[in-house]
Amino acid sequence: MTKEIYFDHSATTPVRPEALEAMTEAATACYANPSSGHAAGRRAAAALARARRQVSDALGAREGEIVFTSGGTEANNLAILGRAAAKERFAGGRIVTSAGEHASVEEPLRLLEARGFEVVRVPTRGGALDLDALARACDKRVFLVTVMAVNNETGAVYDLAAAARIVRERCPDALLHTDATQAYLKVPCSPADTGADMITLSGHKIGAPKGVGALWLSPAVKKTRGIAPRALGGGQEAGLRCGTENMPGICAFGAAAEAGAREAAEAARAADDLRRYLIDRIHENCRDVLTHLPARPAPHILSLSIRGLPGETLQNFLSSRGVYVSSGSACSANAKTPRASAAMIAFGLSEAEARTAVRVSLGASNTREEADVLVELLR
Ligand code: PMP
Repeated sequence: MTKEIYFDHSATTPVRPEALEAMTEAATACYANPSSGHAAGRRAAAALARARRQVSDALGAREGEIVFTSGGTEANNLAILGRAAAKERFAGGRIVTSAGEHASVEEPLRLLEARGFEVVRVPTRGGALDLDALARACDKRVFLVTVMAVNNETGAVYDLAAAARIVRERCPDALLHTDATQAYLKVPCSPADTGADMITLSGHKIGAPKGVGALWLSPAVKKTRGIAPRALGGGQEAGLRCGTENMPGICAFGAAAEAGAREAAEAARAADDLRRYLIDRIHENCRDVLTHLPARPAPHILSLSIRGLPGETLQNFLSSRGVYVSSGSACSANAKTPRASAAMIAFGLSEAEARTAVRVSLGASNTREEADVLVELLR
């Protein structure tokens, strides 16, 4: 078998050894229900509290609450639908978002639109959040602003600090939510960096297993009951996401976050270095390859196209040579009617061009030798 080269770390990552160890421990030695009152239950509760601290510390949150969920998708749904549920009595309320959000933000917003809420999508041409358009969209009717920290397809880093200043000034009662799934441990996205009230995280993008994520809430959101629960039951996770906790997943998430935070600065530098290397080699060697470079790029994501060639065809060709990239978002691959990527169209590509884009996403295992193999195949 040819050696596999994995350039799809934004779709998911391999599980880190620290996470695997914590997962095993939670499933064996620490198997009790953290809500149980006996000593074994208290041990599990301590492990749960530790994981909460690890995820929160790695985010750079000094206060607030981590609500564990089944992943980024559920955290986004909780933030958006939970906020709308808390505000349902205000008919005619408006939500502001960015053009080209992940489906787990866009689909809940479409549901709310169908129920009579107004949704305004702020342009993101060239990978920059249009702050003037954001300011125009923000008025007293707005009760939620949801803008991702890093776009999962273009790798664009949005200026959330500037967005937060606009939101505070123009609609002080609105909550600011950011989907930081692709930013966590790669691009600064702490509450202080983003000014957000709610931050979505996903475990499997940082070396935890699939099926665990979190929503960070500011102390004010919790105190004012700014969001309503989506899963009612036994009161777990501050009553916002009830159900016996996924302890193996949560403990693995905590361990991956702690280990990842120690390496984050160096990992981001290495990814950025490799991304630049790849771009230079492509520009030197591949005349027909277009790179779609945002104004402020995340270190680990590069979107590219071969003019006129469907992204899926390019993905399949590379896959047949053992090199794995993604065409569109893995999460929208299951959609009944595959659409051209809204993120790439918002970036400025035509619908036909958007269908040619593939995403290369880098992780700790990737090397310059692997980048050379990709460039040779593209050439
Ligand atoms: N938001 C973004 C930006 C993502 O890239 C993803 C994963 N593709 C998600 C949300 C969903 O996260 P999860 O897979 O944990 O549900």
